Amino acid sequence: MQSYNTNKRILVTGGAGFLGSHLCERLLNDGHDVLCVDNFFTGTKTNLLHLMDNHCFEVVRHDVTFPLYVEVDEIYNLACPASPIHYQHDPVQTTKTSVHGAINMLGLAKRVKARIFQASTSEVYGDPTVHPQTEDYWGNVNPIGSRSCYDEGKRCAETLFFDYYRQHRLPIKVGRIFNTYGPRMHPNDGRVVSNFVVQALKNEPITLYGDGSQSRSFCYVDDLIESFVRLMDTPDDFTGPVNLGNPNEFTIRQLAETVIELTDSQSELTFLPLPSDDPRQRQPDITLAQDVLGWEATTVLRDGLVSTIEYFDQLLRQ
Ligand code: NAD
Ligand code: UDP
Ligand code: UDP
Repeated sequence: MQSYNTNKRILVTGGAGFLGSHLCERLLNDGHDVLCVDNFFTGTKTNLLHLMDNHCFEVVRHDVTFPLYVEVDEIYNLACPASPIHYQHDPVQTTKTSVHGAINMLGLAKRVKARIFQASTSEVYGDPTVHPQTEDYWGNVNPIGSRSCYDEGKRCAETLFFDYYRQHRLPIKVGRIFNTYGPRMHPNDGRVVSNFVVQALKNEPITLYGDGSQSRSFCYVDDLIESFVRLMDTPDDFTGPVNLGNPNEFTIRQLAETVIELTDSQSELTFLPLPSDDPRQRQPDITLAQDVLGWEATTVLRDGLVSTIEYFDQLLRQ
């Protein structure tokens, strides 16, 4: 249902997390009413403190595995721990969050006739045998491994989204997010950018898993949020899935060396065992996003790292 003016009532699940807090901020800046729903498993109120005075912003503590009855025009479904440490902490809850959470948010969207965006992931490609990954690649995913609660949960959520689209004509938007970094990443969530930046700022050893030759493509958070908003604004017949990320690929060792240089750190590299099912390489093919959304990431890694380093530097001084 559309409100009386062009401002929309928008639900952001997982809104207290890293990406969610940036999305809430962006949507409020665009003049919308934003309802943030979060169970604060990995997200924090601190991420939202600067938005609390805005009368268009509401926060509700709620777990998306339970039904939610609210009236909104659009839903961004981001609720789900994203880092391996967090999603492996309670893997059953991770699957429930992706699957039951998707069912509840899709049921809500169906009842109120809202558009709904799903924060899917490059992990649906697993350890890819096709490089770079295009949306028509079905993936190479282990169904019973330690990453499966996240990977298969997100794959099942995509299935649900497409079945609600086919069965109920629900306007869905599925974005497959590749590694994203920036301010408000959780300092202890074990992801590579936050780990390396915190280690470098403390002059502690930089922990490279394996020999550091595996690669990732890192997208700066502001670029990613722009792609979410553009995807939500596409015509009803565009569902995705669409890859959202920055195709510039770096080895993990290159990332470590860049972080050391930018922080002027005394840290040395240390090599630890590679976690199981760790993908060798990952790079999005973003041709579809370029064509349909007119979007591509513009922040180069060094610039994004400088803002991220500033954020963690302040955090560590508190
Ligand atoms: P995050 O952990 O910072 O945020 C997730 C948020 O969801 C947190 O605020 C957490 O408290 C909340 N949450 C978790 N379970 C919940 C539940 N059952 N009910 C309500 N809230 C719940 O992670 P993020 O990096 O901001 O990721 C946001 C979304 O984007 C996730 O769905 C993630 O899978 C997806 N994603 C992120 C990346 C990335 O690089 N950051 C990559 C691919 C996909
Ligand atoms: N649901 C919800 N909010 C709503 C409408 C539905 O949380 O506003 C949940 C509800 O608990 C249900 C799920 O979404 O289990 C799926 O709803 P749907 O209408 O698709 O299916 P059904 O109600 O028939 O199970
Ligand atoms: N990694 C690393 N040291 C760390 C944290 C991660 O070498 O302290 C590696 C990890 O093994 C993986 C890559 O960095 O190959 C990206 O890890 P992250 O957990 O950030 O994301 P994902 O594996 O989900 O892409």
